[in-house]
Amino acid sequence: MNNQDSKTKVDRTAIANEVHALYKETQKDPQQLTSSEGDEDGSNIHTSTRQPSCSCINAAHTAALCKQEASQKVEIRSLNHDQLTYELTSMGEPAFRVKQIEAWLWQKNARSFDDMTNLSKKLRARLKEKFALYSPALVSKQVSQDGSRKYLLRFQDGVMAECVGMPTKNKLAICVSTQAGCAIGCVFCATGKAGLTRSLTGYEIYEQALFIQDDFQMRVASAVLMGQGEPLTNYNASIFALKMMNSAIGLGVGARHLTISTCGILPNIIKFSHEKEQFTLAVSLHSAVQSTRDYLMPGVKRFNLQHLHDTMNLYVEATGRRPTYEYALIKGVNDTDEELAALCDFCAGTLAHVNLIQLNKIDDSPFLPTSEKRAEHFVKTLKRFGVEATIRHSRGADIDAACGQLKQKVVGKKRV
Ligand code: SF4
Repeated sequence: MNNQDSKTKVDRTAIANEVHALYKETQKDPQQLTSSEGDEDGSNIHTSTRQPSCSCINAAHTAALCKQEASQKVEIRSLNHDQLTYELTSMGEPAFRVKQIEAWLWQKNARSFDDMTNLSKKLRARLKEKFALYSPALVSKQVSQDGSRKYLLRFQDGVMAECVGMPTKNKLAICVSTQAGCAIGCVFCATGKAGLTRSLTGYEIYEQALFIQDDFQMRVASAVLMGQGEPLTNYNASIFALKMMNSAIGLGVGARHLTISTCGILPNIIKFSHEKEQFTLAVSLHSAVQSTRDYLMPGVKRFNLQHLHDTMNLYVEATGRRPTYEYALIKGVNDTDEELAALCDFCAGTLAHVNLIQLNKIDDSPFLPTSEKRAEHFVKTLKRFGVEATIRHSRGADIDAACGQLKQKVVGKKRV
């Protein structure tokens, strides 16, 4: 990457056009980019701005809601504020009930309507008759000596995803999944090997946070969408979950403590830069040499490094925020001098912070972590080029810490 380029003013229109062309191209291949799965807001039928699209007399309804009602009970967490208000008003309930029920659903993690003890028994029974309330089931849990806990959760249709809680002093950081499986196919990742089963809905992503919070009995202080899946190929659901984690109805976590981690789905990085909340962005780089990156991360081949570099310049221009590049150091693959030189060239003159990660060893994988000494050499060299860099030591080294490992152990190579 030419450092001179990064310092000159970026041509927004040219880059936006190029990125748009890439977007159109990727749409030919749904495995590569399925950015708008589910409903407009990612919760499938949960949105406060959505216009009704069905022809029934219920103004707050959507076609999906009507269809669901005809066949089965509606999952109450899939209703947005307006829809829930409508439903309760039509049941003759006062407006303050909405607030009470929302607190049970989005903060207190009610597992059943009977948990909602500040509602009358009669109302609870009526709610039970009309709505369903699902919670994910715990399939497996591992506890590390460093205090982190890894969970494998099963959702209503049987698909599974992992999430992690990492306590430090009195703060709880969490990492949640946005898809069951993943289509990107990174060669060093257990999840990538199994492929994509389906994207999670916005509330399935959010529920993982509630689950971890309950288990630790601690408030979530920060969250990253970095577990299984590529969040920017499940854009609306991921943004819904972040907004809910940030909102006063939900967990109330500061936007700057909520991060999306992506492999670099460029059109949606641009989209993300226009979100009004100050969410933060991490990009999995793993190599600044095109051929190495294509090998390590085949699912993002078509977004080349030059385009990624340009898009990140646009992101910084639009948000003024410092992005992070994640770089898992793999012995003999991306920790060579040539790789280091390319990384320095890619990052010099930008705002980026480089997070060097010690790779977690996964079963049947030929990839090994680089030495501590080599990682320190990377940090020192990057700093000489004016690039901020730190080494992130993986948590949970004594458990199946790497993404997808626990699920693989429990279900084998089955796709769930
Ligand atoms: S590292 Fe992330 S993006 Fe790559 S295959 Fe694994 S889950 Fe998907």
